[in-house]
Amino acid sequence: MNTTDIRICVDCACYHANGDTTGIESAEREAEVIAARMLAPGEHIAVGDSDGFSWSSCDACGSDLGGDRFSATLFSEDDEPEGMNDDYSQYGRITQADYDQAGRFQL
Ligand SMILES: [Zn+2]
Repeated sequence: MNTTDIRICVDCACYHANGDTTGIESAEREAEVIAARMLAPGEHIAVGDSDGFSWSSCDACGSDLGGDRFSATLFSEDDEPEGMNDDYSQYGRITQADYDQAGRFQL
């Protein structure tokens, strides 16, 4: 498991922390935030504390509107497949290679 420090906007922070989009004003913006949640398999974002106001773009949805930014951690899979089986077995997950192979036998 790899971790990357990122900074995200308040809309993404609420969504990633609580699945809450009620504070988002427009349906268009809500769709943008939810689409940004489309992370690679095995990835997720843990939201940390507010860093205060910033003009820096959100690392999740890409918004460059000024506003509060939250420190967050992006968890992603290891690059080396060898290490994945042990880590993922306890979560009921499989490697991409195993998934691909299983898919071939389903038909
Ligand atoms: Zn965002």
